[in-house]
This record gives sequence, C-alpha cells and structure tokens, in this order.
Amino acid sequence: MTDSLLNRALVRLDEAATYLEVDPDVLEKLKFPRETTKMRLMIRMDDGSRKSFLAWRCRYDDTRGPTKGGIRFHPQATEDETEALAFWMTFKCAVMNLPFGGGKGAVRVDSHDLSKAELERLSRSYMQAFSRIIGPDRDIPAPDVYTNAMIMGWMADEYNHISGEIIPAVITGKPIALGGSLGRDDATARGGYYLVRHLTRELGLPKRMSIAIQGFGNAGQHIARLFAADGHAIVAVSDTSGAICSPGGLDVEQLLSTKQQGLPVTSLAGRDGIERRDDVLDIDCDLLVPAAMEDMIHAGNAAAIRATVVLELANGPITPDADLILRDKGVVILPDILANAGGVTVSYFEWVQNRQGLYWPLGEVHDRLRAIMEREGGAVWQVSRDTGTSCRTAAYVHALRRLAEAIEAHGTQPFFTS
Ligand code: NAD
Repeated sequence: MTDSLLNRALVRLDEAATYLEVDPDVLEKLKFPRETTKMRLMIRMDDGSRKSFLAWRCRYDDTRGPTKGGIRFHPQATEDETEALAFWMTFKCAVMNLPFGGGKGAVRVDSHDLSKAELERLSRSYMQAFSRIIGPDRDIPAPDVYTNAMIMGWMADEYNHISGEIIPAVITGKPIALGGSLGRDDATARGGYYLVRHLTRELGLPKRMSIAIQGFGNAGQHIARLFAADGHAIVAVSDTSGAICSPGGLDVEQLLSTKQQGLPVTSLAGRDGIERRDDVLDIDCDLLVPAAMEDMIHAGNAAAIRATVVLELANGPITPDADLILRDKGVVILPDILANAGGVTVSYFEWVQNRQGLYWPLGEVHDRLRAIMEREGGAVWQVSRDTGTSCRTAAYVHALRRLAEAIEAHGTQPFFTS
C-alpha cells in the first residue's frame, strides 16, 4: 500500500472494524472515494494575463446524506490530501449524527499572491467548474484553510447566477447578510471547548488549565479567547512565524489584536512573552491544541509532548505512529472527527435555517451545539471505556456503526447522486 495521507487515514477504519461485526462490503465501500473531480481553473489576472490553478472536489461517500466539506486554498494542496480530508468528513458527520456524507475541495494556490479581485475571480471560477456536482441536496461546500465567509459569499452568488435561483443552502459559512448562521465563525473552537468542559472530570484536567496552541488562525484564536475567558492560562501559541510563550499566561486580547493587524504572534516577543526557536509541542501544559495543519505531530517530535490531553482542532495533526507514542505516554487524544466537529455542526444548522427560512438567535445556536457535543462526546467516551480503547478508535467505532447501518439499509444498489 502506498504511503498516502488517505492510506494512513484508512488505518483508523481498519482499527475500528476490529471492534464491530461489519460486513466486508461496508469496508470495501468506505475504502475508496466515490468520486473525485479534478479541474484546471483559468482566471484573468489584474495585469491582463491569464493564470491557471489546479482544483479538486471529492465526494467521498453520500450514503447518509449529501456530501459536506470545506474548500481550502493552499499552495501544497493535493488530490490525496483532498480525498483524505473528505474521508475524515464522512466519519465526522457520522460521529455527530448529522444527515450528511463527506466531501472536500481544494485549489492549489497561495492566495496571498492574489489581489482581492483575482481572489474573487478564482472563487467564482471554482463554482463555475464544479457547479455540476455541487447543490443543496448533493454536495455542500464550506470554508477551510485560507478560505472565509467572503469567499463563500462569492461562490454562493455565482451558484445563484448559474442556477437562476437564490439557493442559500448550497454553501455554508456565508456572511450573515447572505444567509449565514450566527455562531459559525467560532463554531469549530466552541465545539472543542464544550467537549473539554463536558469531559473535564473524566480527563483529570485541573480547574485552571495551562494550554498551548499550535496555529493561531480561525480555530486557534477562538479557542484561546474561549478558554482565557474562563480563567485558563494560554501559556504558548505559534503560527508560521514561530512561537511565543509565557508560563504565567499570555495576554490573549493583545495576541488577538496583533493578529487582526496582520502581524505574526512573534511580533509580541520581548513585550508579552518569550520567543521560542521551536514550536509549542514540548511546552509543559495540561492541554495541547494542534490548530494548524496535518501531520504536525509525528514520530520525530511526539515523545517531547508534555501535555496530558490533546484537543485536535486541526484535521489529522497526529500521524498514526505518533499516536502510538502518545498512547504509551498515557496522553489522551480527543480526536479531530469529534473535537473539531463544531464547525460542520453549525454548518448543518446554517443549512437547516436556509431551508426553513427561519433564523435562530445566537443563544439557540450555542445551546444546540453544546447539546450535540455533549451527547456525542459522552457517547464516544463511553465506547472508549467499554472497549478499553483510545478515544480516537472509539470515535471511529461510533461513526462506523452508523455508516454500516446506513450502507446495509441501502441494500445492494446504493444510490449515489450523479
Ligand atoms: P487558518 O488558516 O485560519 O489558520 C491556520 C493557522 O495555522 C495560521 O495561523 C497559520 O499561521 C498556522 N500554521 C500553519 N502552518 C504552521 C506551522 N507549521 N506551525 C505553526 N503554525 C502554523 O485555518 P483554520 O480555519 O484555523 O484551520 C486550522 C485547522 O483546523 C485545519 O487543519 C483545518 O482543516 C481545521 N479545521 C478548521 C475548521 C474551521 O471551521 N475553520 C473546521 C474544522 C477543522
């Protein structure tokens, strides 16, 4: 088997299958993406020249509902990464019992190199290229790394132009003015925050935690704000510029305003914290929050981790061999498909609100999110206790049970929208 990100992700499926009596047909179906479309997007640059960009949309499995998953704009985006992310989305939606399958999209681009007008043309061109497979009952994109509400707004508008109708449920993470949901901006972090709060006693975490955060973008900044508001100490954060730490706790407001000004976290070094040559992984803390990219914690650095609990806000931040090292050290990992599922859960709320044309107040969004995180987080914890396995394997077992039930219920001719 080749060493691809998808193949490494599939290790989790095989592990989970050993705890359930699953029909081999179910595993065969879940081992391959159902459909991956690759396109070359050509856009006009501001100087009049044309430039092309590779782009993908993967619909991994739609047995439980229309496929759902973000679109990332990243210079290292690949087809393999897109498929692995779509696989994780399939399991994430099943863990949370959302009526969705899993999908994902990407454009290989460094969006920092584009003007705002070029970025808009690229976003619209993505929707033009993939509108055939996207739709509110077929495949519903959302933001991911280096995409945001503004980009989702452009894509939604483009879809409306193509279809000749206003169909807000085609994409989530939109600006509020275009039918976005209140509470979508911090939903990923908030879901992880509710999960840790709910399991604090089971995880043996102290009342006042010390927390290190790797990656200080959307997910990283919001989790820092939420935990700091409860009096926990954010002792270290990092971004692509490097890391900064303060054993007594960093000034989170100061860090947030620094990032808002477009400055890196290390620009506060000397004033509010100590710059570190290395990342935050070996910081002495209770909770480590990877909130950057995949594979950041690997066999080469996992042994240095000193946290007792890891909350995976990023997708796939820990490689399978690093997982084993952390398990041997007794570190509890709250796995990505559960820990960062707050984002897709509030995306689901947005889709529901768009379809019913009735919009919920922020408190209702938070209450519904908390209820689902606590229900599914508690269930995964219970599976982990019952089977004596890690929370990661337990989350996959929990999801696989639901996926297997749906695949078997479909019979021998599974329906796939095409
Ligand atoms: P983002 O682009 O807003 O932030 C990413 C951050 O990671 C940036 O601060 C960047 O500087 C930092 N980073 C990148 N490489 C780094 C490195 N080598 N070391 C330290 N920091 C580094 O992205 P985001 O939306 O916050 O997403 C972060 C992770 O969370 C991704 O894995 C994403 O798939 C996952 N996620 C995000 C959402 C969401 O709703 N935003 C939902 C689910 C999962």
